[in-house]
Amino acid sequence: MDLKNKVVMITGASSGIGKATAMKLAKEGASVVLCARSEDELNTLKDKIVKNGGKAIVVKTDVTKSADLKEAVSQTIKEYGSVDVLVNNAGLMPLSLIEKLKTDEWEKMVDVNIKGVLNGVAAVLPTMKKNKSGHIINMSSSAAHNYFPGGAVYCATKVAVKMFSEGLRKELAPQYGINITSIEPGAVDTSLFETITDADIKEKLKDMKEMTKLEAEDIANAIFYALNQPTRVNINDVYIMPTEQG
Ligand code: NDP
Repeated sequence: MDLKNKVVMITGASSGIGKATAMKLAKEGASVVLCARSEDELNTLKDKIVKNGGKAIVVKTDVTKSADLKEAVSQTIKEYGSVDVLVNNAGLMPLSLIEKLKTDEWEKMVDVNIKGVLNGVAAVLPTMKKNKSGHIINMSSSAAHNYFPGGAVYCATKVAVKMFSEGLRKELAPQYGINITSIEPGAVDTSLFETITDADIKEKLKDMKEMTKLEAEDIANAIFYALNQPTRVNINDVYIMPTEQG
């Protein structure tokens, strides 16, 4: 897909991977739609993209609300005429051991990491089906491959995203020409770790502070790689680790 004049919706665009992806794809010529709850951050990013000669709009979106995603698609179509790519990236990672029964945090992870992805797909699919083209990128994680302490629920949400992506690909790629990619990174240097409230897990992760992690831009480049292929090529999974992470 040549990204010039393509329309890309990105959830979780207010920081980290989503923000870096918006900047990269806008630089490559895409019109980007910046979705998240933090409107101020999104507007600052939009100004930066526009100042660099790119095209961007902001739609305040809570991915747990299907109506917000539908509204984001309506505004996208109103502004740019269609939607070609969805980067389903919003997520959080409040790790804790199961025995602590932090059920509120379990629910938040299910709501944002899984239901948010489903809501995104439901919102863009009618347009992509009609166009008989499109690309949905879902943000899974290396956590879909490996359990780590405190990660039982988080890992489960990322396994769900990875398997949902495979189901989407099998149902949508041959029939409608819609490509599907699951991105599965190891540790990336973003504010995701700040969503952890559990003191024991924070202590355990102290060692990781020393490790050289991936940069958000590395993941933006991986997303660009998956998108920048001939439409006959579906990159199913991108499993990408920091060299220093075992
Ligand atoms: P950040 O914390 O930097 O970004 C998370 C983004 O998700 C923010 O933009 C936040 O925006 C958004 N978000 C959270 N809740 C909602 C919501 N209800 N509605 C809309 N947006 C929401 O972390 P990352 O950039 O690292 O995380 C992005 C994705 O990458 C996540 O899915 C994460 O699981 C995944 N990932 C990250 C890894 C890492 O090591 N960092 C490794 C593997 C995968 P706002 O608060 O403004 O709504």
